[in-house]
Amino acid sequence: MSQQKFEIPFSRTHRCNDVAEGDVGNEVRLMGWVARVRDLGGLRFIDLRDRYGIVQLLVDPAREDLDGFSKSLGMEDVIACRGVVQRRPDDMVRADMATGAFEVAVDEFWLLNSSDVPPFTIVDDVKAGEDLRLKYRYLDLRRRPMQANLALRHRVILAARNFLSSKGFLEVETPLLVRATPEGARDYLVPSRLQPGSFYALPQSPQLYKQILMVAGVDRYFQLARCMRDEDLRADRQPEHTQIDIEMSFVCEADVFSLLEELMAEIFKVGRGITLDTPFRVIPYREAMNKFGTDKPDLRLGMELQTLDPVFDGCGVRFVDEAIGRGETVRGFIVPGGAELRNKQIDDLEATAKKAGAGGLIHLKCAAGALKGPLAKALGPLGAERLMGSGGLEDGELLLAIVGADAKVTRILGRLRTDVGRIMSIGDPDRFEFAWINDFPLFEWDEERGALTPSHHFFSMPREEDIALLDTEPLEVRASLYDLVCNGVELASGSIRVHNRELQERILEVGGVSRETARRRFGFLLDALEYGAPPHGGIAPGIDRILMLLAGCDSIRDVIAFPKTQKATSLMDDAPSPVDPDQLEELHIEIKTTDEERQS
Ligand code: ASP
Repeated sequence: MSQQKFEIPFSRTHRCNDVAEGDVGNEVRLMGWVARVRDLGGLRFIDLRDRYGIVQLLVDPAREDLDGFSKSLGMEDVIACRGVVQRRPDDMVRADMATGAFEVAVDEFWLLNSSDVPPFTIVDDVKAGEDLRLKYRYLDLRRRPMQANLALRHRVILAARNFLSSKGFLEVETPLLVRATPEGARDYLVPSRLQPGSFYALPQSPQLYKQILMVAGVDRYFQLARCMRDEDLRADRQPEHTQIDIEMSFVCEADVFSLLEELMAEIFKVGRGITLDTPFRVIPYREAMNKFGTDKPDLRLGMELQTLDPVFDGCGVRFVDEAIGRGETVRGFIVPGGAELRNKQIDDLEATAKKAGAGGLIHLKCAAGALKGPLAKALGPLGAERLMGSGGLEDGELLLAIVGADAKVTRILGRLRTDVGRIMSIGDPDRFEFAWINDFPLFEWDEERGALTPSHHFFSMPREEDIALLDTEPLEVRASLYDLVCNGVELASGSIRVHNRELQERILEVGGVSRETARRRFGFLLDALEYGAPPHGGIAPGIDRILMLLAGCDSIRDVIAFPKTQKATSLMDDAPSPVDPDQLEELHIEIKTTDEERQS
């Protein structure tokens, strides 16, 4: 008998993936989605799918009731069935399926719910564009790789929780409606109904609360914290992301590093079965910038940047000699195997360099002991000898170099180094090269505002020996401020915090926040610092980026159940959306939009 049912007719005995040798000859009761229907030699086969896997159902055409019903089934219909497990004939065994040696001969069927024709087929290698997948996220999430990502996320978060708990950390929830205390990015604001004209902010991170928990004697805190930042989005950013937010009392940088190394080792073991090499390499910020042109180097690539003035100086290339004379520099890096790059690829690299502000890109290949490239002739035998001698250029390699002001050249080369890594697929996706970048400057210069701005946030402790420079050379002040990077991705940021009110107020003042403004915005933290705040520090690894690396995805959207687009919208539920005038009225809000904004 086969009929439509709203109530399930029985409890499941098996999940689709569970059907196994021990069940042969027994009745099983299954439920799931119709993934595929095939007619073969008079028989009808249905692939039944649930979260755990797929099992094949077999419909006997002699059973008229079953035959008619199964014929009417469409993709993604939800069914329940009762049937007996049997071995498949040898030539029908599918070794690539957990249940590939069995099938269930159906005795009874029920339709639990029918499905519209799905806008895309639920297969691993989906053809649909991302917008369609996001609109029908519930269908996209039915796909096996997405289910695997959800399961991975669950495992990793559980492992992190268990690990931190085993180390004595307490999970404490901090509020989602907080005081607006801008932490660098723009706040998402929530209007208060009860206090007209006042707003809460959604937390950019629980930074101040976790520091206050240290004052409260919690000693070791963590939280799977949702952080909301109203930023223009880049590929690896979302308006809300999840951090494993951590804070510890009575710790120095090394204590935070070793805890995180253990945590990462646990996460990579549980998430991917990989044993990480710890401790991680520590690279001071300035060294990272100098060697890799970035503070998040991909160490798998090698190709460290070098200063080539001694190689080029006096070789007879006029524009280089003149530049060195002006105090500029020649910097570059060697690409192993780079002699194979095509002219077009080198032209693209040069275009990137020029767009970023370089005058041009010097490119010299070494083949059969000779230099090749536009400058090879001008450099002459002396240049060739130096390049292949102290310059270290060997057969089959390519040198890419730029002339100009040191900081600019270094930054552009950093970008090219990453591009070359990608073009030549140098980075092995199964290798994870972690490093700590520390000694970040406390402040950096914000060109747009023409003002100092904290490199991370205002609450990082300056290095004791640099405190004296706060008023005179603030840009030279290094802080106990660190990032954890892996394969060119920043996975975590943290610092040892300022636990002294006077020093905290001074730092805010140097950063352009007057004592009065500081008291207004951060008064509660400053007050707390006066009541026996212990030295403390912490860090916040971003779960989404860690999962992106573990899952080998290109986008963090693939490891988030319901992500937003680059325009910070959710295509499935159409958030954000206009609200009823009544709701606005209650919140004392009037909307002013230009016609142009309304149309966009
Ligand atoms: N609150 C910081 C952030 O969200 C992390 C930290 O300093 O612990 O980036």
